Parts: sequence; structure tokens; C-alpha cells
Amino acid sequence: MNTQFSCVGCGKCCTDHHVPLTLAEAAQWAADGGSVVVLTEAFLADGYGVPSEQLTHATRRSHPVISGSAQVWVAITFAAYNAGRCRNLDADNLCRIYERRPLVCRIYPMEINPHIPLRPEAKDCPSESWTQGPDLIVGGQLVDQQLIALIEQSRQADRDDIARKQAICMALGINTTALKGNGFVAYLPEMNAFAEAVARFSDGELPPVADDGWSFRVAGDQATLRLQHAGARLETAESMSYMFIPLQSA
Ligand code: SF4
Ligand code: SF4
Repeated sequence: MNTQFSCVGCGKCCTDHHVPLTLAEAAQWAADGGSVVVLTEAFLADGYGVPSEQLTHATRRSHPVISGSAQVWVAITFAAYNAGRCRNLDADNLCRIYERRPLVCRIYPMEINPHIPLRPEAKDCPSESWTQGPDLIVGGQLVDQQLIALIEQSRQADRDDIARKQAICMALGINTTALKGNGFVAYLPEMNAFAEAVARFSDGELPPVADDGWSFRVAGDQATLRLQHAGARLETAESMSYMFIPLQSA
């Protein structure tokens, strides 16, 4: 069955959605006075933490780092911190920066991760948006060429930006990560320091940055034991500098 779609401009996707940003978009978001949340997740170099069919995609958007004596791949997301309505959403539910809105805002409701199929029922778009407009999905494939190009642009930015994002995290003292699939670690950096670090690491050759490795924050005995066995560094105490959002109960 084909899936139709036409945005009805309800503004729901612009409310309570932390919008992933490219590095350039994060710099602009900070320059505009917005807040950025930094989300970290990682998996072991032997693939623990990622389903095998997703390993190639996960590795391409991650950076190789050290945790204790373990080799680890860390993925870092800079996202617009949109608690409540986005700062750019006006009273008529129109985007004030429509012409230069972030890539992910242009791609919604499509998924960027090739392993996550589009499920209309999981999206904020009301039912009428799925019963009008051109076909979006035909025979299980996205057919909108413009959207296909935007999704590829977003995936490419993930790959291009990851080394710089890791350097920015090190400079900001962001060095705790969740285990992929086990939870998220979220930091809300002070925005002047964030903007400075982004400016320092965004262009040209990457300057050297002190790197004493990453620590994991995880939920559950199985994950804890597996990471300990691999020699990874673990954090167990509560921290004031980040929030841990478990996806599994401890
Ligand atoms: S930047 Fe614009 S399109 Fe993106 S979430 Fe904010 S209001 Fe919505
Ligand atoms: S939730 Fe869907 S229909 Fe509503 S503004 Fe966003 S993309 Fe359009």
C-alpha cells in the first residue's frame, strides 16, 4: 500500500522535539541565542550494543575512542533543545526561519536512520496529513527525490562532523556516554562555552585536544558486566553535569 503525505502545518513536530543539528546548524542555533543539548551513545568495537545489521550505519556516524582499556565507537548528536514550543515557532505555527530551517525540520516525518521504517502512527502528524498529497512511499520505498537528497545530506553531515564533535566534547569536558540501545546521556552545555568550542573546532585542521577517554553510564547488570569484562570505564554515581535516560530498567 502506498503512503500519501501532505503537511497540514499543525506545528506539533516543532513542539517538544529536540531537533538534531549538523555542526554548522548547531553553530547558527547558538549564534541565534538557542540552546543545544548534546546526546551521547556508544558501542564496543566488537559490535556489542548494536544489532549486526545496523553496524555499518552506526560505525559510519561514530568516532573511535578509548574507554578504560576498551576500544569504543561513540556517536554524538547536537540537537536544538526544544522543551515546549521551538523558539522559532510563531503564534500562527509558522517557522520564523523557514528558509534556513535545519535539515531535520525539512525531512520530518521521514526517518534518517535507514533501519527505522516510517510508521505514520508514531509521528505527530494528524491523520488528515496522511490521506492527502502526493505519494511519499511506494512499494516500501521513499519516492520523493528532494527528500531522498536531504536525507543523504543529513547522513553525510553525520559522518563529516563526528571527529569535530568528539573534539568539541573533549574541550567541554563531555566524556560520559550511554551504551547504544541501553539509554541516552544528555548534557546541556553552557552556551557561550559551546559556541566558543564549536568556533574553535569547526574549520580547518583539527587542533590537538586533551583526550583521557570516555566513561559509560548504563542500566542493568548484564550491560554492566559486559562492559566491565571488556575493560571499559564505568560511572555509577549520579552526576550534576549530565542526565542519564535509561531505556532499560536497572
Ligand atoms: S526551526 Fe522551524 S521548522 Fe524547525 S522545529 Fe523550529 S519552528 Fe519547527
Ligand atoms: S507534525 Fe506533521 S503535519 Fe504537523 S507541522 Fe509537522 S510535519 Fe506538518
